[in-house]
Amino acid sequence: MGFFSWIPLLFNLCMLLTAKPTLSNSFLSKEGLAEIPSKFFNLAKRPEVFQYMVNIRRAIHENPELGFEEFETSKLIRNELDKMGIPYKYPIAVTGVVGYIGTGKPPFVAIRADMDALAMQEAVEWEHKSKIPGKMHACGHDAHVAMLLGATKILQEHHSDLEGTVVLVFQPAEEGGGGAKKMLDVGILENVDAIFGLHVSTRYPLGMVATRPGPIMAGSGFFEAVITGKGGHAAIPQHTIDPILAASNIIVSLQHLVSREADPLDSQVVTVAKFQGGGAFNVIPDAVTIGGTFRAFSKEIFVQLKQRIEEVITLQASVQRCNAAVDFHTNEKPFYPVTVNNIDLHGHFLKVAESMLGGNNIIEMQPLMGAEDFSFFAEAIPGYFSYLGMINKTQGRLEPGHSPYFKVNEDVLPYGASLHASLAVTYLLELQSQVTTQKGSSHDEL
Ligand SMILES: [Zn+2]
Ligand SMILES: [Zn+2]
Repeated sequence: MGFFSWIPLLFNLCMLLTAKPTLSNSFLSKEGLAEIPSKFFNLAKRPEVFQYMVNIRRAIHENPELGFEEFETSKLIRNELDKMGIPYKYPIAVTGVVGYIGTGKPPFVAIRADMDALAMQEAVEWEHKSKIPGKMHACGHDAHVAMLLGATKILQEHHSDLEGTVVLVFQPAEEGGGGAKKMLDVGILENVDAIFGLHVSTRYPLGMVATRPGPIMAGSGFFEAVITGKGGHAAIPQHTIDPILAASNIIVSLQHLVSREADPLDSQVVTVAKFQGGGAFNVIPDAVTIGGTFRAFSKEIFVQLKQRIEEVITLQASVQRCNAAVDFHTNEKPFYPVTVNNIDLHGHFLKVAESMLGGNNIIEMQPLMGAEDFSFFAEAIPGYFSYLGMINKTQGRLEPGHSPYFKVNEDVLPYGASLHASLAVTYLLELQSQVTTQKGSSHDEL
């Protein structure tokens, strides 16, 4: 390399050295790491940011879309990203959007929101009630999108201070469709070091977060079985093979899987939630369909439970001379793994949440038998999931998620936006300090 080729290099080096002092004075500096969460909280609480999130949330609430059909929701998100000048990839897993804020270089940290609604009729009468009959945002995913866009807004205001890249994951089909898995399969988390997700909750007060290290939500699967016999006159049972009786015995036997085969100290669920058969008082039908869900907290137990469900259904059907075909519908409803919160990220979350909300506002919760497809992300890379409380007693009772009376307390939006932004930025800064320390120590050894 000749002398002149060194000049740009030296120039860059000088720029880097002179840039140092400004970095430490920046909004998002390593030196001021502990203050970042409260700074972001103040930014997210500003009336214009709050109103921005409220408007987004209401617009999505009025037009709920089911899994992999979130076309308008996705368009709204892309419009907002366009307005903020944020690059993104689309479409990913049909309607998914992945945006990028920062240097565009490593390290990468992801924050995630789900976009889909539920196939149910909203029973809340209010100005921004769902305009689509039979569809409703009853799990708060409208608020999740609004909070992630709110985080995007406050992060973008300080994008030049970012050391690394924040990856914004807007995913389709959390409610059973496994949108996270489809996004993961196309490599959206390649080179990403960690991912954070959160969910609004009607179980905890506003201003509080609930979480735990390790398993936080169960692994989940669905099953359906068609039990076939031979229909006929209800008064002449000897000429029929009764699938109603076979299905009834199957359900009773399925109940014994947890009560007799599972360790009482290991939480598991087998629920039959669907029973369809017959239509007349005096006709034995040809077939009965049953279906349900099963939950467990380890992969091994989950696989065992699945195998036993299949065995019990087919073998118990044959006791009554029926045939049974079992389908786990994994194409449309993939098995969700256990959601496991990474232990190191638990420490990181506590630091951020403490400085934003105070130590008394962090609740260590019991694991839930519910499932989340965030688990696919957290299985692939270190992940962390938490719940954001919404209860404000003066505003009345809040019904739980998936209720037709479910309501979001919009006061939660700034909490979510600043938590997203803070978890991501402080993670990047800490990662950078580790890299610097490692470099420093190897230099010392030399
Ligand atoms: Zn839900
Ligand atoms: Zn949800």
